[in-house]
Amino acid sequence: MTEQQFNKLPDQNGYFGKYGGRFVPDTLMEPLIQLEKNYYSLKGDENFQRDLLHFQKTFIGRPTPLYFAENLSRKVGGAKIYFKREDLAHTGAHKINNAIGQILLAKYMGKKRIVAETGAGQHGVATAAASSVLVLDCLVYMGEKDMERQQPNVERMRLMGAEVQAVESGSRTLKDAVSEAMRDWVTNIDDTYYLLGSSLGPHPYPLIVRDFQKVIGIEARKQIMEVETQMPAEVIACLGGGSNAIGIFYGFMEDDVKLIGIEAGGSDISPGQHAARFSGGRIGIFQGMKTFVLQDQEGQIELTSSISAGLDYAGVGPEHANLLDKGRANYLYVNNVDAMEALKILCKEEGIIPALESAHAIAYVLKKAKEYDRSQSLIVNLSGRGDKDVSIIQDWKFKK
Ligand SMILES: *Cc1c(COP(=O)(O)O)cnc(C)c1O
Repeated sequence: MTEQQFNKLPDQNGYFGKYGGRFVPDTLMEPLIQLEKNYYSLKGDENFQRDLLHFQKTFIGRPTPLYFAENLSRKVGGAKIYFKREDLAHTGAHKINNAIGQILLAKYMGKKRIVAETGAGQHGVATAAASSVLVLDCLVYMGEKDMERQQPNVERMRLMGAEVQAVESGSRTLKDAVSEAMRDWVTNIDDTYYLLGSSLGPHPYPLIVRDFQKVIGIEARKQIMEVETQMPAEVIACLGGGSNAIGIFYGFMEDDVKLIGIEAGGSDISPGQHAARFSGGRIGIFQGMKTFVLQDQEGQIELTSSISAGLDYAGVGPEHANLLDKGRANYLYVNNVDAMEALKILCKEEGIIPALESAHAIAYVLKKAKEYDRSQSLIVNLSGRGDKDVSIIQDWKFKK
């Protein structure tokens, strides 16, 4: 099995098929090329890999379990439903896999200071934790609107020693925070490392993030083979920028397994009301990459909306766009109402409160499982835990 088989490595210009690349101002070109060089050489470095494994095991708590949801499977009927429990990773989501990986990279590159952006706050929390344990300064940019929606995560970051900077421009959400973080990076390039939180942005970030998240899929494949006699029929994950999805997909890329990504359908698929890039978007250039983007006729970026801040983003990781083109993965959406309903069912049946992001993938599975029988299985990536969403869930109840 070679890495190239499904275009697993981007080409030398950072393209996965037609998507990706490096659409940045001149000032960013050199730092990105340096990062790429450093990354390719550290990828094969024994000390780096040993340190990474050490932190994965002892700090993050890997491997995370693969959990058979017996009650839920019985209730729904059909295929056995398994959850890959990224909600049990330190700080409560898969984001820490990437944060630890990149901060280790920064450390090996001799950087002193980390800048990052965050949407749901989960990437900020993971970055704050990883910066703390690896002793680097940390500044997190966060849209003002997201700060309101995710107040507990702002507190967590500050407790762990990170500075949180409110971004008041634009729609005051993730895309504006990304722009601010990039601006900071260019200004302070010598001692600063920019830690991007999803499989997005200019090359080499989509590759780096994917590589630090692929541990999810590699573990899950091994774990399902220990308990089942055949491969799962489908592997399902929610899709914000696409990092938890590409991480779990990676393990099953060469297998006869359907790969399904679930985007946020918001309240409905009309401009401004959702974040389903593959259903409502088209190809464009956005934040350094060529990919599917939600945009109007003139190419202006559309507003997005979802109950889950982590899925609320106008662009999607380029590797996913390529997997769609190649027919290797499929992308559907689930709306707010169905995600909330799925969340409640999982809480009740299994005693697990999933993140609202993950609940989108669960909603799909609740419908899909019936089409299979009990000899078959489905794996859902439970990308994070829902403690951060409890107040949103309460408000939702109130509205009805
Ligand atoms: C950030 C986040 C997501 C979405 O990000 P991806 O890069 O698409 O994985 C999904 N689930 C949780 C819990 C998150 O925190």
